[in-house]
Amino acid sequence: DQLVSQIAAGEVVDRPASVVKELVENAIDAGSTSIEVRLDGGGIKRVSVADDGCGIPREELTLAVKRHATSKVRDLDELESVASLGFRGEALASIASVADLKLTSRVEGSDAFSIMDGEISPASGTHGTRIEVSDLFYKTPARRKFLKSESTELAHCLTCIERIALAYPNIAFSVIVNGKSVINLPASGTEERLSRLMPKDFRDAHRAVDASVPIGNLYGWVGLPTAARARADNQYFYINGRFVRDKVLSHAVRQAYNDVLHGQSQPSYCLFLDMDPKRVDVNVHPTKSEVRLRDSQAIHQFVFHAVEEALARTTI
Ligand code: ADP
Ligand code: MG
Repeated sequence: DQLVSQIAAGEVVDRPASVVKELVENAIDAGSTSIEVRLDGGGIKRVSVADDGCGIPREELTLAVKRHATSKVRDLDELESVASLGFRGEALASIASVADLKLTSRVEGSDAFSIMDGEISPASGTHGTRIEVSDLFYKTPARRKFLKSESTELAHCLTCIERIALAYPNIAFSVIVNGKSVINLPASGTEERLSRLMPKDFRDAHRAVDASVPIGNLYGWVGLPTAARARADNQYFYINGRFVRDKVLSHAVRQAYNDVLHGQSQPSYCLFLDMDPKRVDVNVHPTKSEVRLRDSQAIHQFVFHAVEEALARTTI
């Protein structure tokens, strides 16, 4: 149908980190306050994500793992203004087609059920959802060959989790790798989450950004030259909690750095822009890190001035 054809079909899963991304985003969309990720064998052997979110009622389990079944967008109008992270309804189906997927869920006031290979069975568990994905690409050895070593795949998974965790400080995250706890982030505010996840040089040499205009709010950190020299790859930009790569935004930040610091350093930043979802088109790329901005000139101006003002505070 029309909605389905408007949603660009695309490969969602190419490595364990993309499984992690989809499952964690689903957990966030479910309103979770605490998310636990378990990774075994670099995530190739197993990725398991457990949350305390709203759960999936028994009668919706079959649909949840079907392609283009999403509970998050009902019509084209809504597709214009998606606020949730997922909306294509293809992640679980795609994952289930290339790995073993077991989903266990319990809605408050009901019993827990599991679904695997289309079979529903009674289960036990507290409210929320646990999805276990095992043996990624075992059915497709040709694709499995493209996976890197376990340690490289693990590193991608951890980067992905940290990137998401930065934008959701109010959610507690824990990550367990081969049975050992490696990340433990309590629910907190933005400052504390940034302090826990940003490298020391950035933590020690940054200025806070906090600016508001009618089109939106911008907050986060911009690195000072010492931080930026040490590490030029700390460049994170989020719109409405979604990590994005956008030329307009990176240009605005770079221009502010050039104006204030005269090319002394590469920009390093972790910035969050919250604005009306109707002004951002996130439906341009299947992995959703590219966006199209309406009023991009006004947004450019806003970001440029906010970053410039924050950086200028240091030179006096
Ligand atoms: P999308 O996120 O694009 O809707 P997915 O394939 O990722 O599609 O998920 C399909 C559906 O399964 C979701 O729309 C949602 O209703 C349900 N779902 C998936 N994961 C969870 C979860 N952790 N908690 C509650 N519901 C979930
Ligand atoms: Mg999803």
